[in-house]
Amino acid sequence: MTKKSIPFFNYPAIYIKNEQEYINIFKDVCSRGAFIDQKDLADFEKNLAEYVDCKYAIGVADGTSGLILALRAKGLNQGDEVIFASHTMVATASSIYYSGGIPVAVDCRDDRLIDPEDILRKITPRTRGIVPTQLNGRTCNMDEINKIATDHKLFIIEDAAQALGSKFKGKSAGTFGSAGMISFYPAKTLGCFGDGGAVFTNDDEMFRQMKLIRDHGRDPATGKVLRFGLNSRLDNLQAAILNFKLKTYPQDLERRRSIARTYQAMLGDLDQLLLPPGPDVDENHYDIYQNYEIEAERRDELKSYLAENGIGTIIQWGGSAVHQFEGLGFKCKLPRTEKFFKGALMLPMNTTLSDDDVEYIGNCVKTFYK
Ligand SMILES: *Cc1c(COP(=O)(O)O)cnc(C)c1O
Repeated sequence: MTKKSIPFFNYPAIYIKNEQEYINIFKDVCSRGAFIDQKDLADFEKNLAEYVDCKYAIGVADGTSGLILALRAKGLNQGDEVIFASHTMVATASSIYYSGGIPVAVDCRDDRLIDPEDILRKITPRTRGIVPTQLNGRTCNMDEINKIATDHKLFIIEDAAQALGSKFKGKSAGTFGSAGMISFYPAKTLGCFGDGGAVFTNDDEMFRQMKLIRDHGRDPATGKVLRFGLNSRLDNLQAAILNFKLKTYPQDLERRRSIARTYQAMLGDLDQLLLPPGPDVDENHYDIYQNYEIEAERRDELKSYLAENGIGTIIQWGGSAVHQFEGLGFKCKLPRTEKFFKGALMLPMNTTLSDDDVEYIGNCVKTFYK
């Protein structure tokens, strides 16, 4: 095998692939002076809502503020608890915190998603809602979570930052609860050229409140301030770029799934690895593989071995679940999540990888364990 060089993520390659189109978009938007809240944003919001089959999509400055908008629209009171899975980005918990709630961490199951049984154990009279993370591009079994939410009168707001286009039983991530957030951070499956995000909702009142909060609480018709809000607008230029990228997004997802299929075929029978669920094993799930996160024996050695062979890998969230960051003051033990982080490693997964690249990565992993 000749040595290759495969970075974990290749940002310039994403731009170069369609450079001329991006230049045209830049010229078009800028020559119209269309920078804030213009047609490109409205078009993108409409297309995005259609894509996930949801009544409303609202472009926001970034995913984190999207979650804050949704939680603020719900109106948390002091002492309200909101449950989240600790295997997530800290943004899930900090959004709860910055919306006035108390984030309550729960464990994950073998598919790395929030554990419904642990949710039940952590519910108290102060629990108001659940923020499940649709992690790595896989949507939770929302039947189980919806049932808990209904039984205990809790709201659901999804952190679907990693899951645009992912589905459970044919329904898109981000459209199950009162609202759902996605992120357009550049490394996300639909990435923009900076920060960006969106929130979805089917609820007219949630839509109204989130739109108000996005723009300082101002009524767009009169300019009157109706409530306290923030500036959390998605730039019109980013919206125009995202609108262009959305056109080929379904193909991008199929490419990711085909890479996952190859990893599954090459590595599926190694006892030392626990792979994510394969793309064809459960028809209830349409996974989009934002990340290909494995649980590996001798993880650190594997990571070094792959680096020596030119392959970039990443340990998600710096190797810690949210409750393990001491500065945040969580005082719980979550055994499955903690065990998971000892072996967690993300292999390259993006649309700039060639078939040869994927095979090379698979072969290197196999050689390591031989
Ligand atoms: C990326 C991400 C976020 C934050 O999104 P930003 O757009 O960077 O604010 C939140 N939660 C999860 C699970 C993420 O992966």
